[in-house]
Amino acid sequence: MDIPRIFNITESAHRIHNPITPEKLATLGAALRLKSGDRVLDLGSGSGEMLCTWARDHGITGTGIDMSQLFTEQAKLRAKELRVADKVKFIHGDAAGYVSDEKVSVAACVGATWIGGGVSGTIELLARSLRTGGIILIGEPYWRQLPPTEDVAKACLASSISDFLMLPELLASFNHLGYDVVEMVLADQDGWDRYEAAKWLTMRLDKNRDSCSCSVKRER
Ligand code: SAH
Repeated sequence: MDIPRIFNITESAHRIHNPITPEKLATLGAALRLKSGDRVLDLGSGSGEMLCTWARDHGITGTGIDMSQLFTEQAKLRAKELRVADKVKFIHGDAAGYVSDEKVSVAACVGATWIGGGVSGTIELLARSLRTGGIILIGEPYWRQLPPTEDVAKACLASSISDFLMLPELLASFNHLGYDVVEMVLADQDGWDRYEAAKWLTMRLDKNRDSCSCSVKRER
């Protein structure tokens, strides 16, 4: 079981597989007011940067589930590197339907809401693992400008305009599902550069190594 090979190749050197920078990830951890011992669940945990750095910085414990074998291995290595391997656990698998045994303080899905069939399904899924008074953390793209046509949406790598909302509508949609929005950290264009442009050099280095394998080594 794995994700399409292209992502394992283009994002093999990414620590964060979305447009959030390390600084913003730290801001988010602080914004959530995490306390030592808080349990965090992360569906689509990628290479584990969020759980590992929050375990180091806030003393949380966490479980991450991700369908990429490569990213899951990288997450385990990162946990060792940051000396938090006793606090975080990474499971290679399909997170669809995953509910934790113990209730968590923060139930997250950052940049992978297709896991629950969209934002509302993912919130429903995460809610099953959440303790009373806990926080659901969702990372979701939104349109900065509504594409004028479906072709423009496709050129933005969406399958349709309706894939995403504008930010006010996205926020309102959480309210409609019965949740209050209590915090927000937005990605910005620098973050998008780090996420997208880093793929270019990874691909170039990969080509120079005359290798197209999924087990390419981290370059940084
Ligand atoms: N939250 C991480 C990764 C976001 S990218 C971060 O911000 O760095 C989306 C992630 O979802 C990828 O790591 C991909 O491997 C994972 N993924 C895709 N489908 C999945 C599924 N059904 N179950 C678990 N993980 C999945």
